[in-house]
Order: sequence, then C-alpha cells, then structure tokens
Amino acid sequence: MSLVIIGSVAFDTIETPYGRRERIVGGSGTYCALAASFFTKPKIVGVVGEDFPEETIDLFKERGIDLQGLKMESGKTFHWEARYGHDPNQRTTIKTELNVFENFKPILPPEYRSADIVFLGNIDPDQQEDILAQVKHPKLTAMDTINLWIAGKPASLLRVLESVDIFFANEEEIKMLAKEANLIKAGKELLSQGPSLIVMKKGEHGALVLGKDFVFGALAYPCEEVIDPTGAGDSFAGGFLGYLDKVKSFDEKAIRKAGVFGSVMASFVIEDFGINRFKSLSLSEIETRYNQFKKLVSF
Ligand code: AMP
Repeated sequence: MSLVIIGSVAFDTIETPYGRRERIVGGSGTYCALAASFFTKPKIVGVVGEDFPEETIDLFKERGIDLQGLKMESGKTFHWEARYGHDPNQRTTIKTELNVFENFKPILPPEYRSADIVFLGNIDPDQQEDILAQVKHPKLTAMDTINLWIAGKPASLLRVLESVDIFFANEEEIKMLAKEANLIKAGKELLSQGPSLIVMKKGEHGALVLGKDFVFGALAYPCEEVIDPTGAGDSFAGGFLGYLDKVKSFDEKAIRKAGVFGSVMASFVIEDFGINRFKSLSLSEIETRYNQFKKLVSF
C-alpha cells in the first residue's frame, strides 16, 4: 500500500524545563513521516526554504521517505517557537512565521494521487481540502488540526472533517470543535459529522480511539522525563498510519494495534529534543517497547 503525508516541514525553537534549542528541524509532516518510516515508505508533501539543511534531506532519504512532493522554494522555511512549563501537556506558542508556507499550493505528484492512505497533517484546512480533491480513490483518509484553525476557519475545517475517515485531535480541540464539555459526548458528536474514528490524544495519558461501535484506550508509556513533547501527536499519527499501511488492514484488531504503535512512537520522540531520538532509533527498540506495552495492559 502507500501512505501520503501532508504537513509542515519546519524549524522549531523550543524551550522546555530541560533547555532551549533554536531552529531545530521539526514540523507536523516531518514527525509523522519519520515515525511512519519505521513501518512503511511514506511519501511526504510540503515545502521548505533554501535554508533547510541538506543533512535532514539525507536523513529523510536514508529512512526511505519519498521526497518527490517536498518542494524547495526561495525564501525561509516555516518557523515556529513554543515554550513548555513543567506540565508537558501545556504549551505556549510564542511565534509562528509561515514564510514559504504562506503561499504554498500543494500539488500532488502523479504517483501520489493513487495513495491508499492520506494523512492531512496540521495545516490550513483549505490546503487540506485542496489535497484531498487531488487523491483518486483513497482507502483511508485522516486529518489532524490545532486550535488556530478551529477558531479561525471552523467552516473549512468542518468540510474537511466530513470527508475523512479518522480525526486525530487532542481533548481540548475535540471539545472546542464539538462545542461540548464532555469528551465522550464531544467525540460522538464529531463521529456523527463524518469520520468513522476519532483518535483523542490525551498527552501523557495516552489516547482514546472512539469508533461508532467500539472504544479502545491506548495508554501512554510511563515516562519520568519528558525532554521535549513537540511532535508527540504527529509521531502518534505516523506510527498509527504507518502500521496500518504495513499490515494492509483497517479492521478493529489492526486499529487497536495501530493505537499501541502510535503510543510507542510518541513515547520515543519525547525522550530528546526535536527529531533527535528518531535518528538513533532501531526496529528492535520499537519491538521491545511494544512488548512492554503489552505487559503494561494485560491483566
Ligand atoms: P505536535 O507537537 O504534534 O502538535 O506538533 C508540533 C509541530 O507542529 C511542530 O514541529 C511545528 O513546527 C508544527 N506546527 C505548529 N504550528 C503549526 C501551524 N500553524 N501549521 C503547521 N504546522 C505547525
């Protein structure tokens, strides 16, 4: 099968209680594609500026990520700055500089149009809609978003939501979009608007996968030190969808396992700043942690 990922490829400036890093590589597309690359060969759609490091392009290639859809434009790469306090689930966005992302009109290369799985990472919902229209007959479509779009472009966002199968979002975003304070009621409300699965990300508590007739809880790996929570959500989506692409199945059993692999990938990325942990990660470490998860939830 094939997995196409659309998202930001960025520079992030991050401050956490463990330190500050200036302009390190990040972005929703970057995290998702790197996490998925441990399961399949994802194709990425995005844009970077001329200042984007060759070294990261080489890393993408080494990880088997298809880069035909990653454009390099003259100008600067998207830059995002955020600060976390002691609660890793709370962050403050200090700055968002769209740069080359501002006028990005994503065009899918011909080979990408027959993708089986499409992930619309957190970007402007109008761009997400544009992309979706270019894919022929996807078997599974998924989207993510952030508060910025829920507040700023709710109508566009709801249009995209209507046409996707899976909605990945955190608790606060689900409640805000559904205008409902109870998480389960909010999830059910969104299920009635189109998607067949809502993946409710609950930060350090894991995720709740809500389907029309089942619900599955994927715990987060018990982790004492969260060095940098950035990208946990996108890495969850990358592990989740990468696994489904690998096993070529979307039945309930596959979805449950995908939830665990999503948590596994999120648990690794937060162990170091930016994408660093993915640079040294091995398949055997993923397997070991997957087995630790199994023990954690068996009773
Ligand atoms: P996450 O921690 O999974 O929510 O994702 C964080 C990533 O999202 C960072 O690496 C940022 O570069 C990226 N990001 C933050 N704001 C935006 C935005 N408005 N549009 C696209 N990507 C963004």
